[in-house]
Amino acid sequence: MNVIETSGLGKRYGSTWALRECSLAIPAGHVAALVGPNGAGKTTLLNLAVGLAAPSAGRVTVLGGWPAGSAGALDGIAFVAQDTPLYKNLSAADLLHLTRNLCRRFDQDYAKARLGELGIPLKRKAGRLSGGQQAQLALTLALARRPRLLVLDEPVAMLDPIARHDFMAVVLTAAVDDGVSVVLSSHVLAELERVADYLVVLSRGRVQVSGEVDDLLASHRVLTGPAAEADRYTARPVVHVRRGAAQAHMLVRATADDPVPPGWEAHPVGLEELALAYLREPGAAALPGPARDPALSSGTGEPSGVTR
Ligand code: ATP
Repeated sequence: MNVIETSGLGKRYGSTWALRECSLAIPAGHVAALVGPNGAGKTTLLNLAVGLAAPSAGRVTVLGGWPAGSAGALDGIAFVAQDTPLYKNLSAADLLHLTRNLCRRFDQDYAKARLGELGIPLKRKAGRLSGGQQAQLALTLALARRPRLLVLDEPVAMLDPIARHDFMAVVLTAAVDDGVSVVLSSHVLAELERVADYLVVLSRGRVQVSGEVDDLLASHRVLTGPAAEADRYTARPVVHVRRGAAQAHMLVRATADDPVPPGWEAHPVGLEELALAYLREPGAAALPGPARDPALSSGTGEPSGVTR
């Protein structure tokens, strides 16, 4: 089952396409990271998936085929928007009460126990809680709805490293212990390396690469060798070249079994390095290779735009 599936999805504001020809399928059972620079279309994609915005083109379904925003979809999704919006004048207890009244399913015992563990006083107004506590409160309200899909838009952007770590630990517990699928957008690539097992890179409103992290890491290598010879490498598709005075580092679509040219060394790639390479080369989405399922490709046929 796919928790989010889009086909030719687009959203236009006036003459600006916030998201274009987005086709992807995020399977259930993952912590999926949505990565992209400012303005890439991450919030737009998440808002479309949770039914807060309507598509200008294409379609989006969630939780195995429910149209985004339908009753069946809303029942299974919890969403925490950017900047963890809470009614700042309401206490944590009031927010629990309000959310319970708005939701068909709300696990009050879980919510109270979690806030107790976190040391968040029920009587304190949300606006008087620290940024980390506000984020934890919003996450608790979301998880107490017992969703099958938790969608988080930039959940840790405003948090210090400890609050960020604590927040992501709760997300991981929900994913591992309760089987909640998670889709989260973030700029904090180093954090994602620890938690995400599925990656979607979005740039300029389009999907650049998507897939299970293990598959992506196994199908990419970093080749290090003489900078002067980088241009001559054609054996496998090159995603990105980083040049030094003497040496070049090339991220290529290749497995550990692919031959390495004489004078070059091959190394495994990390998630952060892989995501950065695709962010630096938005045209790499059009490269041949296994990084995107061709059935899901937008088929724009645009040139790769890879610089060497
Ligand atoms: P960030 O990382 O900065 O949050 P993002 O990847 O979430 O960015 P979006 O917020 O989805 O990007 O915006 C994508 C593009 O659409 C941007 O160019 C943005 O200016 C534009 N956009 C988004 N919402 C609107 C809107 N309501 N009206 C007009 N343009 C919009």
